Amino acid sequence: MAKHSKKSTNLWSTPAAQVLRATDDTRVEEIDFSLTPGFDGTKADAQELLAERGQVLSALQEKLYANGRSGDLRSILLVLQGMDTAGKGGMVRHVIGLVDPQGVDLASFGVPTKEEREHHYLWRIRNELPGGGKIGVFDRSHYEDVLVVAVHDLVPRQVWEPRFDEINAFEKELVDEGTLVVKVALFVSPEEQRTRLQERLDRPDKYWKYNPGDVTERGFLPQYRLAYQRILDRTNTDYAPWHVIPADRKWYSRLAVTELLIDALERLDLDWPAADFDVEVEKQRLANS
Ligand code: AMP
Ligand code: MG
Repeated sequence: MAKHSKKSTNLWSTPAAQVLRATDDTRVEEIDFSLTPGFDGTKADAQELLAERGQVLSALQEKLYANGRSGDLRSILLVLQGMDTAGKGGMVRHVIGLVDPQGVDLASFGVPTKEEREHHYLWRIRNELPGGGKIGVFDRSHYEDVLVVAVHDLVPRQVWEPRFDEINAFEKELVDEGTLVVKVALFVSPEEQRTRLQERLDRPDKYWKYNPGDVTERGFLPQYRLAYQRILDRTNTDYAPWHVIPADRKWYSRLAVTELLIDALERLDLDWPAADFDVEVEKQRLANS
């Protein structure tokens, strides 16, 4: 295990991976969006700590990448789910942005294209799985196929209902093949979502993030809550558990996901790959060159 800095051990009363992990009792309607579970510091503390922990994350990721280059097939897959404005894009920029982009396989999943619709819903997902040594990041994922699809009856219930078991089997397959799956659901309050959407309307540099459909979806919040509850009830497996993150405070959600990734990388217990050449011989050759 990498050593935790003094600061981080002081500020987290319970590790993020433990305190945020969904349980059988997790109720979406009871989430307090403004809390910072397990973290006792201020925003300034969190920002300072993010920079510090970002270096730890980056060092671990380099080791994962190095192992991948040496043929290790293991990888990490971060699945980010959350409604519009929950902070998925910011997570990519501010957390994934802390590591070497060469080691990241990023994919965003929007409304399926014509080609995608001609295939099984997992087809486009399988095409974007991380290679060995990579951190894969899914900005939305296969969970949209039991989320927006269920909320808007895009396919009949008898079609999406069996998908939970299918998704569990799919994720089991990933885990068995050496991918550590980290699932994160970001929950933003309706009030904070309004504020963030308002900002997208007030600032020309944010128009590009605004989609009139986002306001329409606000009318479906109870249905989304229900759909998220179903996801937690049906797909919170021991091999690919969910983490439920209150997201009204971005400084908290970003620090929390950083900790989840560090935890995942530490669980891989990586070493630097051994040289596949004779180091002494090569030193001699270099000296003589
Ligand atoms: P954004 O993440 O803001 O770019 O928006 C992507 C949009 O694509 C969201 O409204 C999602 O709900 C939608 N979306 C993603 N996956 C699916 C899917 N499988 N079926 C229908 N809509 C989807
Ligand atoms: Mg959007």
